[in-house]
Amino acid sequence: MKNTNILISGASIAGPALAHWLIRYGFNVTIVEKAPALRLGGQAVDFKGETHRTVLSRMGILDDVRKLQTGGTDQEIVDATGRRLAIMPGEFTGGDLEIRRGDLSKILYDRTAPACEYVFGDSITSLTEPPAGDGVHVTFERSAPRTFDLVVGADGIHSNVRRLAFGPERDHVRFLGHYYALVELEEDFGAVPRMYNEPGRMVAVGGPKAPAFFTFASGRLDYDRYDVGHQKDILTRAYAGMGWRVPAIMAAVGRADDVYLDEISQVRIDGYRKGRVVLLGDAAYGNTLGGFGTGLAVVGAYVLAGELAAARGDHHVAFAEYERRLRGYAKIAKNGNTGPFLAPATPAGIRMRNWMFKYRFLLGLMMKLGDKFATDIDLKNY
Ligand SMILES: Cc1cc2nc3c(=O)[nH]c(=O)nc-3n(C[C@H](O)[C@H](O)[C@H](O)COP(=O)(O)OP(=O)(O)OC[C@H]3O[C@@H](n4cnc5c(N)ncnc54)[C@H](O)[C@@H]3O)c2cc1C
Repeated sequence: MKNTNILISGASIAGPALAHWLIRYGFNVTIVEKAPALRLGGQAVDFKGETHRTVLSRMGILDDVRKLQTGGTDQEIVDATGRRLAIMPGEFTGGDLEIRRGDLSKILYDRTAPACEYVFGDSITSLTEPPAGDGVHVTFERSAPRTFDLVVGADGIHSNVRRLAFGPERDHVRFLGHYYALVELEEDFGAVPRMYNEPGRMVAVGGPKAPAFFTFASGRLDYDRYDVGHQKDILTRAYAGMGWRVPAIMAAVGRADDVYLDEISQVRIDGYRKGRVVLLGDAAYGNTLGGFGTGLAVVGAYVLAGELAAARGDHHVAFAEYERRLRGYAKIAKNGNTGPFLAPATPAGIRMRNWMFKYRFLLGLMMKLGDKFATDIDLKNY
């Protein structure tokens, strides 16, 4: 086997899922994660259709995921007086199998941590591949420089590896005109999840499984992703003057310790590989809140590791085959933009979106279409 020492950047879903398979095939894996510890935040993520289930089953984690599954909670869409206008069924938002993102990340971490090296609180600062060399020289913010045979960027839609190896984010990521925020609130906003819209703005609170969730239309904002105070100011401005329980929700946001604010965007990149560096998961085919990111990451990890093992570590062969297979499968991430669906721009748009939830056959059709995309790959048994 060639190229057995592999560095993965990012310890969320794609990175640990890839580590799981690489360890099984006999590779040595190091994972570097910028956060000081495993990040357990986020809403629920979901799996759809036979392909996702098959990969989870082959990984041996399907039962663990089922034990922690959260699906099935309907969400009420309400007007300014709190009157119910429509119900967003749990099976529409939760796919076939839904789990909190943090729980899934923890399952993958627990399975891999004993057999690979996790380096938290660090980040790659440069990647150099000598023209005639047989490895990638890597420098880090904190750790000493090291050389690896291959490097995988599994570090999300704002991928650091993609920036270093493929060029600046603006060349590969398209802003889609909306922002979203997740805020863990101390206050309880009720057992039933409720969502409220005004044109270009949406807020969802309550229920057992999610932090408060905001989506709003906006031009591009300039802010520091690590400055919580500034992010709270942005949210407060965006939701000023809104009805329903929004003033109380925003007061609770003011008291919250943490806010996660990001743009809704989509990765547009020509190829996933450059020499000994390859992209996986949202770094390669991310589409924020598109509902497919986690399934794509898990299937992508399965294919990338499987192709590496099948090619006995030959990255030229394996990366090309991984890219060929995933490019077709990940086409769903190239289309679609959840921003206008969550926060329609006009009262008529809001009414139309709500109207759709009255018709089970329409929802059924959309879910069938989702399943079709999620199973549109010929899954090899490596
Ligand atoms: C904290 C968090 C909350 C999320 N919440 C939701 C949600 O509510 N709903 C939803 O649909 N999706 C959510 N996602 C995204 C979802 O996890 C992905 O769309 C999908 O699972 C694919 O995962 P990924 O591993 O490719 O990317 P991501 O899950 O985005 O993970 C990327 C990882 O790379 C790490 N990273 C970033 N920069 C560096 C760097 N310079 N060096 C090393 N590591 C780095 C990040 O900290 C993160 O752990 C969330 C992701 C995170 C990290």
